Amino acid sequence: MIIKNINHDASYHTEKIAVMFFPLEKLKFDGDDNVVIETKKENNLLSVRVKAYSRLLEKIYELKENDDVTHSLSILLYDTLSELTGYTLPWGILYGVRPARLMHSTVEKMGVDNAVKKFLSDKVEQKKIDLALSVMERENKIIALSRDNSFSLYVSIPFCPSRCSYCSFVSHSIANAKDLIAPYVELLCKELVHIGKIANDLGLRLESIYFGGGTPTTLSAEQLDILLSTIEGNFDLSTLREYTVEAGRPDTVTEAKLNALMSYNVSRISINPQTFNDDVLNAIGRRHTSAQTIDAYELARKVGFDNINMDFIAGLNTDTPESFKQSIDTAVSLAPESITVHNLALKSAAFLCTENEFFDLTERSNASKMVDYSYKAMIENGYNPYYMYRQSKSLGNLENVGYAKDGFDCLYNVFMMDETHTVLAAGAGAVTKLKNPQTAHIERIYNYKYPYEYLNNFDEVLSRKKGIIDFYSE
Ligand code: SF4
Repeated sequence: MIIKNINHDASYHTEKIAVMFFPLEKLKFDGDDNVVIETKKENNLLSVRVKAYSRLLEKIYELKENDDVTHSLSILLYDTLSELTGYTLPWGILYGVRPARLMHSTVEKMGVDNAVKKFLSDKVEQKKIDLALSVMERENKIIALSRDNSFSLYVSIPFCPSRCSYCSFVSHSIANAKDLIAPYVELLCKELVHIGKIANDLGLRLESIYFGGGTPTTLSAEQLDILLSTIEGNFDLSTLREYTVEAGRPDTVTEAKLNALMSYNVSRISINPQTFNDDVLNAIGRRHTSAQTIDAYELARKVGFDNINMDFIAGLNTDTPESFKQSIDTAVSLAPESITVHNLALKSAAFLCTENEFFDLTERSNASKMVDYSYKAMIENGYNPYYMYRQSKSLGNLENVGYAKDGFDCLYNVFMMDETHTVLAAGAGAVTKLKNPQTAHIERIYNYKYPYEYLNNFDEVLSRKKGIIDFYSE
């Protein structure tokens, strides 16, 4: 896809909007391609010209007094692409990853009624506006819990039993990384000791802990025990409100591991079916069955977990709206405390397709049906949306939403998505985010991405943590 921006400063926006319509097209900057978009400002005239395969459409708009050029051009491009493809975007011209946060800042600036009008003028669907308002209200209550010296702790375990076909995380299958796990746990403990000392010296207040990855329960019960006891011995847990460990893959869940988590007061776990359709599980490379998911869930209940989340993905390869509906209905019948519905993230790929395939909207419309059904089923069964984010390229330009029964919203998810306070992060691929509560300024400290890099550069990992002290001393 080629985008030519002529005589205006809205190129960042036009590119983002074009990518939402054509998420799999690679951006090029010259030559010719199947999709060529030209946006232009000439005196008070805006024009958009789009060629997509054999389709061609051009629209012109005459700027009026007080019109904002970027907004007017964005809308003109949106209208042109929408008419040409026969497709509308649920979030209109909004491309940001945090629509509820945008709603929050817009409401603060102009009040609810005008914020709604603004979202409508950005072509956001009414049902998405309602969703953003609900999430905003719920998030605000959680954000209010945080204090100036609050922080959360993230621990990265970048290993999984096998790699799912849609995975976009840094995660190694244990078949490829078995030998790395023991040294990784050893150094991760050292990093946690180091971070714990810094947090204590700075007088920071720990609100939530989140073990993610990867699949943390890929570790053995003994390794989990070592990590959790390191945290217990090196952090002040007296203020801790929530302790989550993802046990995402049911094929990693054992009674011994669950008991280890329980003995350190882990308060929330996530067992992620993604789907209850075994054919779909097979198609996406998850080497477990839906029966194993239910067994793992029942085992967790038996061990005593009373706050369990389940993740699902709309739009998985070979899944259908009907089968997705059955998955959601099964989840509702199991009654976990929270259910998170993700929308499949698309990976860019250079591939050839026919014009008919290019304009085929079936998959997008199926994803939309799935997301709509999950919203309806969640509301009808007492789950409310409490956190939401979007990815830059996702099937149908839809959102990922966390739903929870009252009292079971995941605090960490909200703190992290809202960037409410500092997140100190340990492990490969982890990113520490330092937040100045007065100025809202954020600084990041990156750990090495892959486990072998983390192991080979561990001294550097520790020395970068000095940035935390520097940040709080400024
Ligand atoms: S379980 Fe999650 S992190 Fe692991 S491979 Fe699958 S998608 Fe990636």
